[in-house]
Amino acid sequence: MVVGRQPRGDGAADNGATKSEGGTVRYRIEHHDLDGRGPHPTRVYDLPPHPDYWPAVTDVPCPAGCGGIVRWAEAGYVPGYRICGGCGRHYMASGTSEAPTLLRVGTRRDAVAV
Ligand SMILES: [Zn+2]
Repeated sequence: MVVGRQPRGDGAADNGATKSEGGTVRYRIEHHDLDGRGPHPTRVYDLPPHPDYWPAVTDVPCPAGCGGIVRWAEAGYVPGYRICGGCGRHYMASGTSEAPTLLRVGTRRDAVAV
């Protein structure tokens, strides 16, 4: 099962598609099938490039800007699963080491967020 590892496929250009919240939180909307129920709009947060992929998407500051750290949370979930220790948002690691991203995973728990 391949989950959340699709290449960006957009030429890595923002081209005005990047949105911002309060001038600090930036994300794009892409369609991803994270739960096997078909593609749906997903917030994609770009992270800084890193020589190694997994450190780029593990123990990094929450891209939603809550001040928490996005922790490894693959136990009981799937490879790439991350949960923010600050706000409890769920993410799926995606992208590449050159252009790592976190995909926001919608859950009941984060239904109260923003
Ligand atoms: Zn957070």
